[in-house]
Amino acid sequence: MSVTRREMIKMTAAGFAAAALNIPFAGTSHASEDVVDVDKWIKGTCRFCGTGCGVYVGVKNGRVAAIRGNPQAATNFGFLCVKGFKGYMSMYHPDRLKYPLVRGADDKFKRVSWDEALNLVAKKFMELQQKHGKDAVAYYGSGQCMTEESYTFNKLWKGGFGSNMVDGNPRLCMASAVGGYVTTFGTDEPAGSYADIEKARTFFLVGSNLSECHPIIFRRVTRQKLSNPDNIKVIVCEPRLTSTARIADIWLPADPGTDLAVFHCMAREIVKNNWVDKWYIENLCRFTTGTQVVDFAAYTQFLEQFTPEAVEKLTRCPAANIVEAARLFATQGPTMSLWTMGLNQRTRGVWANNLVHNLHLITGNICKEGADSFSLTGQPNACGGVRETGSLSHLLPGTRPVANPAVREQVEKAWKIPAGKIDPKPGFHTMEMFAKLGAENDASKPLKGMFITTTNPAQSLPNCHKYHKGMKESFLVVADIFPTRTTQLADVILPAAFIYEKGGVYGCSERRSQLTSKCTDPPGEAKPDLWIAAQLAKRMGLEKLIPWNGDDPAANYKMAWDDYRECVKMTEHSLYGITYDRLLKMEEGLQWPCPDEKSPGTARRYVRGKDPIMDMPEIVKVPPQALIYFYADQKHEGRANVFLRPYKGPEEPPDKEYPFFLTTGRVIEQWHSGTMTMRVPEIARSQPNAYVEIHPSDAKQYGINNGDLVKMISRRGFNILPARVVKSSLPGILFVPWFDQDWDRMINRVTIDAFDDGSKQPEFKICAVRIERFGDPKDVADMTVISSVDTPFPSRA
Ligand code: SF4
Repeated sequence: MSVTRREMIKMTAAGFAAAALNIPFAGTSHASEDVVDVDKWIKGTCRFCGTGCGVYVGVKNGRVAAIRGNPQAATNFGFLCVKGFKGYMSMYHPDRLKYPLVRGADDKFKRVSWDEALNLVAKKFMELQQKHGKDAVAYYGSGQCMTEESYTFNKLWKGGFGSNMVDGNPRLCMASAVGGYVTTFGTDEPAGSYADIEKARTFFLVGSNLSECHPIIFRRVTRQKLSNPDNIKVIVCEPRLTSTARIADIWLPADPGTDLAVFHCMAREIVKNNWVDKWYIENLCRFTTGTQVVDFAAYTQFLEQFTPEAVEKLTRCPAANIVEAARLFATQGPTMSLWTMGLNQRTRGVWANNLVHNLHLITGNICKEGADSFSLTGQPNACGGVRETGSLSHLLPGTRPVANPAVREQVEKAWKIPAGKIDPKPGFHTMEMFAKLGAENDASKPLKGMFITTTNPAQSLPNCHKYHKGMKESFLVVADIFPTRTTQLADVILPAAFIYEKGGVYGCSERRSQLTSKCTDPPGEAKPDLWIAAQLAKRMGLEKLIPWNGDDPAANYKMAWDDYRECVKMTEHSLYGITYDRLLKMEEGLQWPCPDEKSPGTARRYVRGKDPIMDMPEIVKVPPQALIYFYADQKHEGRANVFLRPYKGPEEPPDKEYPFFLTTGRVIEQWHSGTMTMRVPEIARSQPNAYVEIHPSDAKQYGINNGDLVKMISRRGFNILPARVVKSSLPGILFVPWFDQDWDRMINRVTIDAFDDGSKQPEFKICAVRIERFGDPKDVADMTVISSVDTPFPSRA
């Protein structure tokens, strides 16, 4: 069936909700149109974004035949977006990788047995480690792996090899949110839950095109708005007039990378008009420059520079809108902020997160119903799988720093490894990893090998072609379900199982863990990543550390999960009470902290009577009289930091030579690099290729008409893209979605790889480009995918 984008959107439930607000679309639906007479329905979660929508997977004759939303799931109440109800179809695409492959001397891949492939990987990794040291081989994981898988690879590297060369793609999407929570509150992840959406009276949607990137959350926000349109207010801070911005009562169109000034200006208005919450300021806030604690008067003084008029000049955001946004934020609460990559993928990402938290702290809009400062995660298991298991180069399970000796000691005991085995020095973060990956004989490249799973860095890294040489010249092992730009550079390809072919736990943005049960077998000889990790461990003499290498995936995943629960039992991230048995029975999963099997989980942290950790002195010490207490405060005062961060703009603002801002993002139909969603014909036809959005005034100046090909050039590379001349992108700002695998439309050949000093997250969202008309309209709806492992990598830059 061929479905146009318009038809796809029209047939969805929130499409109607959006229509009521006179916005273009939301794209959600109650259930799959493919609901058929199936043999059984199996509970699980969607794997195509961080919302964590609950699904039922319909199985007929041993094959997945349909998906429907789980009406009892607390995340989505049965609603799904197009990826949720169509994305599974990619499982049966003929391009699926089915057998282990090893690159031969003729540069072609040849099929080998699992034993041959795993023995080769184990032998080569051990050789590299012996010759170049324990840190010569890295693991690069994904926010799409199951929690048990990320935990196991992390344990193998840090506990088995004694190497912290572990990182993953959440570094590219959520690291600044982690940095923001940790520096402000002392620990990662939000205080509240999605349920705050239905209690909020004002929404601050910032750096997020919610309607396309988190459509089910957008549906909840639009429903709340529609329930009382005059009194529920929506503020959107976003440089494009997106479909999200169209529901706004107040739109703050600040230029990319300038919003730090907007947040400080809002704080200034709040302080100036005495819209602050004095009790929060006196009892829960600590004002700090980052190096020095100051008082509220110093904060007030610091804010003085951010007058609405000065900020309008700097950001192009109307002063009156900022003032009104500040009033609504502070006086029409409870207020809930929601954000994603627009705040995180920045060289000042941590600071941007800090400044949004500031607004909540000074107005008392946190730790109350409907009030929260809430980062939405991009990937389905970036929170549960990578942040919480500590599968980044500087962390250990429980999102605790590897540099902390007490944390290392506790984890070494839990893992039953010798004291001192875990290296205190953090490994390389993602950008450093790929910069230092290279050939064995290249002395400038300390990383000689890498194991990559469930991600496609050859396409998803910023300024990606800079890193292709290192991937090609090192010993690269890639586990995935389809050929990708990254498998094109691999030495060994391992065929992996899809979520519904193995099962396991995902943890979504609201600290909620949910279990998916295995629904069907993987194709050919494809295997679960957990089995691959455990078999690799066995071949490297580490079977005792990771013994879950049997043939029963359910038993293996449960063993790994129980090992993880035990490891984080006595932490404020405890999910000891979240057992497989409970997850199997519960339709909506459980939110940590959940320290024992009687705990119902925690919807709101830091509040007495709501958060069990408040009454666990063996984990944190909270004064008995404290009703709200930020117990992870590093100074043990129960306060959160309100930062006086100086203003800094983007790394590469437009100039005479490169006069445009380029910003990138997702579209509702496509997931990340399009590896799976581009293989669902209905989705691919609906959104077949990337394009560049240009404002009509800019298009006119460059003689560009709708559909014309545009050459877009940055200091790093170029793309050739069809133009969409639309008013949603403001003059001087261009937008390109990033899913397209076509070499000429792979936008990460253009983006910048500068990164945030604190979080090490790159500034995908902002760089400077110039454009020129390249040619007449041409049909580029070619739905490009890398369809064969032997498709040669482009030789031109
Ligand atoms: S909103 Fe996210 S989790 Fe929910 S169905 Fe869509 S892609 Fe899946």
